[in-house]
Amino acid sequence: MSLTSLGVAITAQASIFRTVGQVTMAPGAAWSVLRAAVDAQRNVGSSVRAVFLVDDFFPLDSIARLLAAGDQDVWVTVSTEREPVTNEIDDLMAQLRIDLASVPCAVVGIGGGITMDTAKAVSNLYGNPGTAASYQGWDLLGAPGVYKIAVPTISGTGAEASRTCVMTNTASGLKLGMNSRFTFFDEVILDSSLTGTVPKDQYFFTGMDTYMHDFESLNGSHRNALSDALSQESLRLVREVFTSGDAKSNANREKLMTASFLGGTAIAGTYVGLVHPVSAGLSVVFGTHHGVGNCIAMRAMQEFYPAEYDEFWGFVDAQGVEVPVLGGMSWDADTLDRLTAATLLHEKPLSNALGPDYRSVLTPTKIADIFKQL
Ligand code: NAD
Ligand code: ZN
Repeated sequence: MSLTSLGVAITAQASIFRTVGQVTMAPGAAWSVLRAAVDAQRNVGSSVRAVFLVDDFFPLDSIARLLAAGDQDVWVTVSTEREPVTNEIDDLMAQLRIDLASVPCAVVGIGGGITMDTAKAVSNLYGNPGTAASYQGWDLLGAPGVYKIAVPTISGTGAEASRTCVMTNTASGLKLGMNSRFTFFDEVILDSSLTGTVPKDQYFFTGMDTYMHDFESLNGSHRNALSDALSQESLRLVREVFTSGDAKSNANREKLMTASFLGGTAIAGTYVGLVHPVSAGLSVVFGTHHGVGNCIAMRAMQEFYPAEYDEFWGFVDAQGVEVPVLGGMSWDADTLDRLTAATLLHEKPLSNALGPDYRSVLTPTKIADIFKQL
């Protein structure tokens, strides 16, 4: 039993859906739509200044020019060298509080999952005191952050649609987001013309994240009809894209952006499965990025997801992509212990995939066997 915010008792079978506040489908028009969205917020709160967090692929000055933004705003380049780390989010907050005396009218994330998650975390911390790490978990935020807007520039994570912002706490080894109803973006602007410059391999690795979200939720025990319908449609689009001879055509980029949004919305009402905890282990211990980590994890998934294993390696062949092999690893006891701990922390996805007794399947020996296959 749990209670909703309205104080209504619901059963364990009930699934609550929330989603982003507003989605604008804006093919070729992201910048004018974004400008209007930010300007609308300037008239609402006490500050007229916004914070723009931009993926390091894009030069800040060119985006600022495209937006015709004045110099009142704060512009930050988000490094995509590594995925968000809790204490670096705290450092960013400290810097923003120096650069901007008041609370901004909006926080905008322009980029991939790293940048969008950073924007969500920053927005949330404007509304909630304390450190980023103190909100890693489920429903720990007590209040909304400032108005947050996403402009995804690569498709697949569903971060634009989900109720979390994934961060790694390097001290505790925990890779977990601020999973909360307050983490959704207020506004998302979908313009698939922005993904044309994504390199082919990265397009595949991030795109496959949607495939994993879809099949992991469809194979789980924590199902509901709405998530299923969203995941199935997302899966259909992903299949069309990655069996096509030109996965990056304009039409396919639009399909993948749509699939990503649907997949992200689906998992906001359910959970992922086994691929994600294994990928999180790789991320925490070796710093492997999420999309490619999921693809590497698929090497050990034949036993758990046989049909998807075959289909996934079929996509790899069709697209001519190289999934890296974890080479030259020393599988010493300490590394295996850390991988095991980082994997088993993901109780909800693991019980969704393997049932409440997942630890009887995923023994330390089994987990070591999985990682050694990668
Ligand atoms: P990313 O943010 O890691 O970026 C990948 C690369 O693509 C970077 O080098 C970036 O500069 C580049 N890039 C982005 N847009 C580009 C463009 N238009 N042209 C050229 N290059 C471009 O990519 P990602 O795979 O979207 O995000 C991964 C992150 O998302 C991880 O931190 C992961 O934990 C997180 N994630 C979050 C959720 C969620 O629900 N919040 C879900 C899944 C993953
Ligand atoms: Zn994912």
